[in-house]
Amino acid sequence: MQTSSITRGWFYQGEERQAEEVYAVFHPHTGEKLVNVPDSTPRMMKQAIETAHDTFSATKEMTKKARADLLFAAAAMIQEDKPYIAGIISAEACKPLKAAESEVDRTVQTLQFAGEEAKRLDGEYLSLDAAAGGEGRDAFTIYEPIGVIGAITPFNFPLNLTVHKVAPALAAGNTIIIKPSEQTPLSSLYLAEVLTKAGFPAGAIAVVPGDGVTLGKVLIEHEFVKKISFTGSPRVGKLIKSQVGLKRITLELGSNSPMYVDRSITDLDAVAAKAVQGAFSYNGQVCLSTQRIYVHHEIAKAFKEFFIKHTERLVFGAPEDRDTDVSSLINQESQTRVLAWINEAQSEGATLLTGGKAKANGITPAVLEDVSSESSISCNEVFGPVVLINEVTNWESALEDMNNSDYGLNAGTFTNNLSQAMKMAHGIEAGQVLINDVPTLRFDHMPYGGVKQSGYGREGVKYAIREMTEMKMISINYNL
Ligand code: NAD
Repeated sequence: MQTSSITRGWFYQGEERQAEEVYAVFHPHTGEKLVNVPDSTPRMMKQAIETAHDTFSATKEMTKKARADLLFAAAAMIQEDKPYIAGIISAEACKPLKAAESEVDRTVQTLQFAGEEAKRLDGEYLSLDAAAGGEGRDAFTIYEPIGVIGAITPFNFPLNLTVHKVAPALAAGNTIIIKPSEQTPLSSLYLAEVLTKAGFPAGAIAVVPGDGVTLGKVLIEHEFVKKISFTGSPRVGKLIKSQVGLKRITLELGSNSPMYVDRSITDLDAVAAKAVQGAFSYNGQVCLSTQRIYVHHEIAKAFKEFFIKHTERLVFGAPEDRDTDVSSLINQESQTRVLAWINEAQSEGATLLTGGKAKANGITPAVLEDVSSESSISCNEVFGPVVLINEVTNWESALEDMNNSDYGLNAGTFTNNLSQAMKMAHGIEAGQVLINDVPTLRFDHMPYGGVKQSGYGREGVKYAIREMTEMKMISINYNL
C-alpha cells in the first residue's frame, strides 16, 4: 500500500460516505501518514443504529439458504482479492505480509463456516408428555435473530476477528454495527463493501470509525442494540461489562498464555520451533501468544538451546517485505512499555538470553529465563515479542505456575504421557487446552473464549451464533 493523503469515509446505508471530521492513521513502522478516516460523531453512530434497526426485518426474513449463499459469495470475493486485502492489513496493522496473508485465508474459512452454520441453525424436539398432564402435545425449539449487534474490535486481526462477529450475526439474520479499532478501520470498510456487493441489504452492515470511548458509549447504551460483542483489552472489557446492564455481551479479552514441555518429549527441536512461532507471530501481538513456557528441568538446557536457535533465525523488517517475520509494534507506547518490562524482569532476577533490543518501532524477539512470578512479564499480558522460559521440577508444579495467573484463555502442554496430559487438561484453568500444540493454536470453528479475566462467553462461528440468537419454544396441542 502506498503512503497517501487519501480520505476514506464511514460505511452507511450500503455505501462509503464522507464525513466532516477526520483523523489520520499512521504507518506503525515508518511513521508516515497512511490515510484520513472519519472521526465519527455520536449522531452518526445513532443514525447507523437506527438504520440497522429498520433493516432488521429484511435480514430476519431472508431464508437460511439466501444468507448462506451470500456468505459463500463474500468468501469467494475475498479469496479473489487476497493480495489487495493482505496489503491493507499489513499496512494498517503493521503485520508481516506472510501473517497478513494467513489472516485472509482464515477469514475466507470463517465466512464459509458461517454459511454452513446458517443452514443448520436448528432446534430440538421435546417430548412434552414426559411431564404429567403434557400428553397430546409436541414441542420444538427454533432460534431467532435478536436484532442489531454492536461489534467493537481490536487492531490485531482487523479482518478475521471482525468477521468472527459479522459473519455469525448475518448468518443468524441479525444486522450489525462495527466500531473498528482507531488504528485499523480499513479492513472493516473493505469487509462491509464486500458483504454489500455479495447482496446483504444496504443498512445491514455499518462501519463507524472513531473514538472508542465516545462511540462505544452510544452503541452500549442505545436501546435498539441488543448485544455487544467486544474483543480487546481486559481494561476496556471490564468497563464495558459495567456499562452494559441487561444487554447481552460477549467479551474476548487478553491473556498471558502458558505451556509446559515434559521430559517425555523427545523431539525438542520441533517443539521449540513451534513455540517460537507461538511466541513471536505478529510480533507477539496475538491474544493467545505463547508468553510463559515451563520446561521440565531435565530437558531445559537442550530446549532453551533449540529455542534460541530458532528465535535468532527470525528476520526483523518492514511488514510488506516477504522475508519479514517480526516488525514494529503497533505504536511507540507499546515499545516503551515492553522494554521497561524487560528491564524490570532483569532487575528482579531474570536473565535475558537473546533479543530485547529496540529496533525501528519494535523490539527484537526476546527470551528471558528465571523470571519471577511477580514480574510484569510473567503476570501481565505482554502483547509484544517477549517470552519467558522457567524450569520446573515436575508437571504438578508446572500446572501450579500455569494457573498462577489472572487470565485463562488458551494453554498448551507437550507430553507423551497420556494420563499426565489428561490430568493437566482437567486441572488447567483456561477456556481451551491444547495437548501437544502451542497455546497460540486456533481454528476458526473451535469454541473459543476465556475464563477469569480473559473473557465472558464464547466465539467460534457456531457458538457465536448461539449467543446472537434467542431460543423460542413452540408447542402444539393436537388433542383440541
Ligand atoms: P483496546 O481494548 O484498546 O481496544 C479495542 C476496541 O475498544 C477499539 O475499537 C477501541 O476503540 C474500543 N474502545 C476503547 N475504549 C472504549 C470504551 N471506553 N468503550 C467502548 N469501546 C472502547 O484493545 P486493542 O489494543 O485494540 O487490542 C489488543 C487487546 O485485544 C489485547 O488485550 C488482546 O489480548 C485483546 N484481544 C483478544 C482477543 C481474544 O479473542 N480473546 C483477540 C484479539 C485481541
